[in-house]
Amino acid sequence: MAKCTECNQDVGETPYNPMEGWNMKAPLCGKCYSSKLEDHYPGKHIRVNRLTEND
Ligand SMILES: [Zn+2]
Repeated sequence: MAKCTECNQDVGETPYNPMEGWNMKAPLCGKCYSSKLEDHYPGKHIRVNRLTEND
């Protein structure tokens, strides 16, 4: 079973590939992928469990 290259957790049935420019290796788990996505593309339609206070 593949492990996330970021957190070393099992990626499960849905491994994610990092986008170009992230300088990360595949696969990523959904959690790390979402986290990175938010880092690189803030404000997009990503579901996160926190409020944005600097809008
Ligand atoms: Zn991960």
